[in-house]
Amino acid sequence: MTIVYQFKGSLYINLTNRCPNACVFCAKSKGSKIFNGYNLDLGGKEPTAQEVLAEIDKQISSGFTPKEIIFCGYGEPTMALPVLLEVAKNLKAKYAYPLRINTLGLGSLVWGRDITKELAPYIDKINISLNATDNENWLKIVRPAPKYAEKSFQAMQDFVRCAAKNIKEVAVSVVSNQGIDIKKAEELARSLGAKFFVREYFDAE
Ligand code: SF4
Repeated sequence: MTIVYQFKGSLYINLTNRCPNACVFCAKSKGSKIFNGYNLDLGGKEPTAQEVLAEIDKQISSGFTPKEIIFCGYGEPTMALPVLLEVAKNLKAKYAYPLRINTLGLGSLVWGRDITKELAPYIDKINISLNATDNENWLKIVRPAPKYAEKSFQAMQDFVRCAAKNIKEVAVSVVSNQGIDIKKAEELARSLGAKFFVREYFDAE
């Protein structure tokens, strides 16, 4: 079980395999949780904040200097919000490395409140996966769980707007070669107050 892994000069934290979506391109939904040689399958058991912090300390004290520390993994990190906040708070107090979350942007919908305000004291950057520029394609591509489906496209946009107000750096990304209209996606991202970039298929960044 990998809870912290190195990738492209940064440390990535694999907090949970839970996710409110089942994206068509997700390796997880195809039965694999191997990323870059790391097994991100947590086997239904999620790490505690203490376990995550101990693993990060171990990697840094062994000589690794991360560019960033990123909450990512094969699952939606905000599903484990209390652990995420505890880890982020402790990392912020101990290290100067920038802290980032890679998210699908449904954390506030899942928790029923604007969580960007809770993240703001500790998180420097948020990258949000856009995946579609309209509700119909969003539902087809990210396939949210039925209890979130109706509100999820709007909720993701609201999350981007709130994050842009509360977090220092907010970017929206799309996966290349997935048939999405890149120009429309960029316009939507900018209208929500976020930066925009295109990422490669299966690139954890
Ligand atoms: S949001 Fe991420 S973890 Fe969840 S199904 Fe989509 S690609 Fe997979």
